Amino acid sequence: MAVFSHPEFDHHETVSWCHDAASGLRALIAVHNTHLGKGLGGCRMWPYRSEAEALTDVLRLSRGMTYKAALAGLPQGGGKSVIIGDPRRDKTPELMRAMGRAVNRLNGAYVVAEDSGTSVADMRLMAQETVHVGGLADEKAIAEGRTGDPSPATAYGTFIGLKAAVRHRLQRDDLRGLKVAIQGVGNVGHRLARHLHEAGAELWVTDLHAPAVERCVREFGATAVPMEAIHALEVDVFAPCALGAVLNDTTIPVLKAPVVAGAANNQLAIADRHGEALRERGILYAPDYCINAGGIIDIYYEGPGYDWAIVEAHLQKIGTTLAEIFERAQREAQPTHRIADRMAEEIFRKR
Ligand code: NAD
Repeated sequence: MAVFSHPEFDHHETVSWCHDAASGLRALIAVHNTHLGKGLGGCRMWPYRSEAEALTDVLRLSRGMTYKAALAGLPQGGGKSVIIGDPRRDKTPELMRAMGRAVNRLNGAYVVAEDSGTSVADMRLMAQETVHVGGLADEKAIAEGRTGDPSPATAYGTFIGLKAAVRHRLQRDDLRGLKVAIQGVGNVGHRLARHLHEAGAELWVTDLHAPAVERCVREFGATAVPMEAIHALEVDVFAPCALGAVLNDTTIPVLKAPVVAGAANNQLAIADRHGEALRERGILYAPDYCINAGGIIDIYYEGPGYDWAIVEAHLQKIGTTLAEIFERAQREAQPTHRIADRMAEEIFRKR
């Protein structure tokens, strides 16, 4: 399988194919860039239909982590790993420990964390085999009620970023009466809904999972919306917090919100085309990897000496960075995602 000529290959430093016969592990680890520090990124477990699909995912995701860490102002590079398998069926403690050994063989160039299909419990199993595990809460943290789940910080960072977008596009700081449509009210979306509700916003929500919607209706007085209608509502902000590629040829022409600001990864189906399409329609898009960086910021600080005040101060910088992206994009008449890429490259390529 071609790697160097792969369309998603972008000067990745290392791409490893990892196998363990006893546990059945088949995994890939990609380290994109370590100019700023170790390549940190989650381990995704997914029933990929082919090895080619897994390779595409790990190349793309690890590159994204370099950009995310650089813009978040962290002394870290970008990496990612994928395990080929169904997390509900194929996951065993042996498999997770074998993955820990695979991570360990890279001697710290890659630091693993949780992602879709893996949990804090899986990270603990990997940590039996390697010290290169990020975001693991220690005993003190557990006693304080933290688990190492980055979702609260991601949600709070998204809230800060959403406010920066509203300030820039709608010239308002007061969120009372702001209309926000949230697609996906899971770990991040539900917490974002709480921040918005507390700030006085009016909410419309949808989710595949009906109880998640009912909870928002009950707790925040949100209005439940069918899944296919959420992106086309007459609201101020559309906040994608479920899946990727939601900004595409079908949704962009019918979006009515002047601001898109949500936590989902890879929101633009085809980055350049759809970022430009949003700009042409006058819709302000908060680049996903910038607004959703709260999780890696939290993981960076996890461990002994964790202090929420320090984490919170860092999360506030998501707002300042976004404000700079929005101003540059406006000045240069460029889509915001392109400016974000350029700003990240200015940071990690300089070293
Ligand atoms: P989650 O799985 O807890 O929540 C996602 C929710 O979206 C679920 O409730 C799911 O039922 C719902 N959903 C799935 N498909 C949907 C659809 N078509 N329409 C409506 N709802 C749908 O995940 P999460 O941790 O809340 O993450 C949400 C998004 O944010 C993901 O894209 C994730 O990659 C991204 N993200 C999460 C973090 C984090 O710290 N958890 C960090 C960065 C980025």
